[in-house]
Amino acid sequence: MKSPLEILQQYFGYDNFRLEQANAVENVIAKKDTFVLMPTGGGKSLCYQVPALILDGTAIVISPLIALMKDQVDALRVNGISASYINSSMSVYEQNETLNQLKNGQLKLLYVAPEKLSSDNGAFLKLLNEVNISLFAVDEAHCVSHWGHDFRPDYLFLNGLKKQFPEVPIIALTASADEITRKDIIKQLNLQNPLVLISSFDRANIKYFVQPKQSVFQNIIQYLNEHPNDSGIIYCLSRKGTEEMSNNLRENGINSAFYHAGISSLERAKVQEDFLKDKTRVMVATIAFGMGIDKSNVRFVMHADLPKNIESYYQETGRAGRDGLQSEAILFYSFADVIKLRRFAMIEGNEEQSELMLKKLKQMSDFAEMQKCRRQYLMEYFGEKHDGNCNSCDFCLSEFETWDATTDSQKLLSAIFRLKERYGKNLIIDFLRGSKSVKITDFMRSLPTYGIGNNQDKNYWQNLIRQLLLNGFLSESNEEFSVLKLNEESKLVLFKDKKVTFRKVKEQAKAVIVAE
Ligand code: ADP
Ligand code: ZN
Repeated sequence: MKSPLEILQQYFGYDNFRLEQANAVENVIAKKDTFVLMPTGGGKSLCYQVPALILDGTAIVISPLIALMKDQVDALRVNGISASYINSSMSVYEQNETLNQLKNGQLKLLYVAPEKLSSDNGAFLKLLNEVNISLFAVDEAHCVSHWGHDFRPDYLFLNGLKKQFPEVPIIALTASADEITRKDIIKQLNLQNPLVLISSFDRANIKYFVQPKQSVFQNIIQYLNEHPNDSGIIYCLSRKGTEEMSNNLRENGINSAFYHAGISSLERAKVQEDFLKDKTRVMVATIAFGMGIDKSNVRFVMHADLPKNIESYYQETGRAGRDGLQSEAILFYSFADVIKLRRFAMIEGNEEQSELMLKKLKQMSDFAEMQKCRRQYLMEYFGEKHDGNCNSCDFCLSEFETWDATTDSQKLLSAIFRLKERYGKNLIIDFLRGSKSVKITDFMRSLPTYGIGNNQDKNYWQNLIRQLLLNGFLSESNEEFSVLKLNEESKLVLFKDKKVTFRKVKEQAKAVIVAE
């Protein structure tokens, strides 16, 4: 029997396994269940393709991406591996032919869409009982979990696999799972004592930038003009947004196309193909675009609107730089987007799900607002340690000066204190700035703190409040209208003269001005 490494070299032409591939392969060959969490582009496919060539029988690969099955299978065939796929886009005749090959034991790998398992009253599952199956690979495994960001009901049928085929190892693979989702995948698929392999999520060749969402279009045009040879993806929240952006780009002479779930599947396939073949330079898309896209030379991924959570952000930015060359991820951030997405989250799903979505949204906005290495934040989100100072995110590349905010913080906190912790930030700021607004009562005007903050503008105070909240010097209530509350730290600042210092950007690193 050939070793995994020999198979890798002989069939795939690679010298070495990378990340956790070797461990995954070993475990599957030992017929044990395996859970693989690996970033997009990490090389998940080989984790089941190599075992499929070593074990007897046919590997059944469940993949939701019909468009990609063909590419995967073609690539395997080019390498001399007998592989095929079955999905609803094929004629009955073609499907039967493939099923015959399966029955005759002629296939090393068979790719199927998840709905195949549930369709025709489980006819396919019955057929599987009659063939020798080497392993089940569940690709994009987060689709089985409600906690993931892309739940697909068809995946639920997969929870019967283990019962029906207790002897067959299952390998679940995903690029996208936090701890709750990870546990849920293992539970939903009934994995028995699985080996859990988590590869580093650090994509060293991607630089991360967050920029204020202002003059977005001009910024993008400037960027594209400064990087004339680079191709990339711009994500927008709405279908209409993608069309407008793409049309605008075209009017400015940029070769671009838009992609969203509202265009016909024929058109989508064409748009995607043109992008993959470098005929389209810029793809403006909703999140419908890109799952599993293997275009190696995506040099930038921009988010014109805020993603809903870190998983999506990470997965979408992860489409940049799959060839290992320097690439950039640029997020245009505004708090208005957070408010918009909050509204969506509140009406989507049940109460528990809404709450989780809100929590994830908060983590996303924290990422954009925090004064911290972006890479460190991402790594810690996925449960990895990182020392910061990555030297390749806007925070690490910017120049800072120390900002002693003690006196202004004291003014702000004492205003909150004087107003008995009953108001939200807008009123507090109006009060501090000595506004003549009708909301400021005569009583409020009579207080000594009224107007003591009129040396700074509204933005300044908003920013200070945000920094105090983020750094635990201030709290807010979780009511419909958030009310600012003092906490122990606030009291130390207010009554014990505790110093409050932040870092203030002296010179902001921007994606558009970073030299290649
Ligand atoms: P994923 O499914 O994790 O996004 P793929 O399995 O599509 O990633 O692999 C991404 C790319 O990396 C592919 O082009 C693949 O051929 C390549 N690759 C995978 N493993 C290796 C390896 N051990 N050595 C070199 N290239 C690899
Ligand atoms: Zn950094």
